[in-house]
Amino acid sequence: MTSIKIPPEHPRAESLRTREKLIECYHKGVVATAGLIAHGRGEAFDYLIGEETTKPALNAIRAAASALLLAERPVISVNGNTAALVAEETVRLARIIKAKVEVNLFYRSRERELAIKELLEKAGAHDVLGVGEDASAKIPELGSERRRVSPQGILVADVVMVPLEDGDRTEALVKMGKRVIAIDLNPLSRTARKATFTIVDNVVRATPKLVDTARKLKQDLTKCHQILLDFDNKKNLAESVALIKDRFLRLSERGGCFFSEDEERGF
Ligand code: ATP
Repeated sequence: MTSIKIPPEHPRAESLRTREKLIECYHKGVVATAGLIAHGRGEAFDYLIGEETTKPALNAIRAAASALLLAERPVISVNGNTAALVAEETVRLARIIKAKVEVNLFYRSRERELAIKELLEKAGAHDVLGVGEDASAKIPELGSERRRVSPQGILVADVVMVPLEDGDRTEALVKMGKRVIAIDLNPLSRTARKATFTIVDNVVRATPKLVDTARKLKQDLTKCHQILLDFDNKKNLAESVALIKDRFLRLSERGGCFFSEDEERGF
């Protein structure tokens, strides 16, 4: 239940609804206090990319879906913000690609683990890993609580999807030989730079697109091999940064902030 009524015609209705979801889940113990701040950082970058799924993001989504479909032991790692914003889409994706779903938290507490597990189960998940004693294995070289993983999940996964991740763990997972898929609005973050596939997009927009793409590509797995051969994460990430630069250039040429609302959003 949202605590305030957001008028549908409000120009930032979607963004406000997302905030309300997070605040509601914060009060339920799903989202950590720092999760609210992290979302703010994400929102700032969403402004920079124009609040839409860009071409490089779509390329990364296709590559990520291909990697997940071809994986032998795919795992989707879920934190508080991901559970709050895209629990149903995450479960749908896990079903299509036959992935395990594992709770992994920077601010880990038994209460938060259970609250996230409950939210995922309400969305249709079974066998949620990484809760309680199940998070008994450790990722080497990591100091934070994020090092604790399930021996049946992230520890043995070949492809790990980590929406809204921190750079340390992304790097550690890549060092373990895993392919890592990150969804991060900040193309400059360590996560974005260390991941094998970086989707620079809002998790709210990217996850449903990942579901649709995986569903379509599942019909033609040979296509997935070619998509992976053609994908270059560094190049794709550079395109995301260039897109922000070009957008700013265009907007500045039009006279700074003196443009219409339509132009404000557009490219
Ligand atoms: P790193 O350790 O990778 O450099 P960081 O220190 O910025 O990253 P956090 O503080 O955990 O990491 O911030 C969370 C990251 O998640 C930010 O980079 C932010 O852009 C991103 N983010 C927050 N909300 C969303 C969202 N809804 N969709 C996509 N990305 C998001």
